[in-house]
Amino acid sequence: MTGRIHSIETFGAVDGPGLRFVVFFQGCPMRCAYCHNPDTWDVNGGTEMTVDEIYKKFERNKAFYEKGGVTASGGEPMMQIEFLTELFTRFHNEGVHTCLDTSGIMFTGENEKTDKLLAVTDLVMLDIKRFDREGHKELTGHYNDGILAFAKYLSERNKKMWVRFVCVPGETDADDELKEYGKFLSNLKTLEALDVLPYHTMGVKKYEALNIPYRLEGLKPATSEYASDKKTIILSAMKNENTQEL
Ligand code: SF4
Repeated sequence: MTGRIHSIETFGAVDGPGLRFVVFFQGCPMRCAYCHNPDTWDVNGGTEMTVDEIYKKFERNKAFYEKGGVTASGGEPMMQIEFLTELFTRFHNEGVHTCLDTSGIMFTGENEKTDKLLAVTDLVMLDIKRFDREGHKELTGHYNDGILAFAKYLSERNKKMWVRFVCVPGETDADDELKEYGKFLSNLKTLEALDVLPYHTMGVKKYEALNIPYRLEGLKPATSEYASDKKTIILSAMKNENTQEL
C-alpha cells in the first residue's frame, strides 16, 4: 500500500511531545480561511510513498526521537485512514510514540477503521476550529458536528487528546462562543492540554503562488498576549463548569 505524502519534517518541535518525525499527508476536505498549508488540499498531489520508505527515513535519526516520536499531520491524515493505520502500526510495533494531528472532519460515527487506528495511536491532537456550528461552516466549509462527536468519542475511549484552537481577531474570538467552547471541553475527561494559538499570516504567499484568493486578506497577525487572554476565557469557563458539578 502507498500513501500520498506532502512532505516530511525530520525535527518537528511543535507537533506533539518531544522531538517529532512529522509526516504531512496530502489531501484535505476542509477549506479553513486561515489554512497555512493550502498546497496540501489537492488529494491528487504529493508523492506516493510506502510505510517502509517512510520508516527508513525515520530510522536514520531514530536516537533523537526517544522522548518524542512520530506525528501524522497534513492536510488531513484520516483521509487515508488505511495507510495511516498501517504506518502507525509499524511505528507502534517498534515502540515509537504515535501522535495524530487531525481536524476530526472524517469522523462519521463509531466504526471499525477508526477503532483500528486509535488502537495504534497514543495521542490525538485535535483541532476544534470553532464551537459555533454556523461559524464553523463559514470558517472551514463544513459543520463541526462530526468533529465534536469525535472529541467525545476519544474521551469515551480513554484516548489522550490535546485540543488546539486558532484565535482569529473578529472571526473566532467572541467571548460568549469561547465560554461555550470551554464548557464543551470541560466534559472531555482525557483532555491533557489546550493550545490557543494566535492567528498568523505565514501561509499567505502560498495562496498567491497557487492563485487562490486569501479570504482573510488584510487581517493583521494576532499577538501571543491576545491568545493568552482568550485562553483564559476558555479555561475560566471550563473551571466554572467543573466547579458547578462538584
Ligand atoms: S484542516 Fe488543516 S490542512 Fe485542512 S484546510 Fe484546515 S488548516 Fe488547512
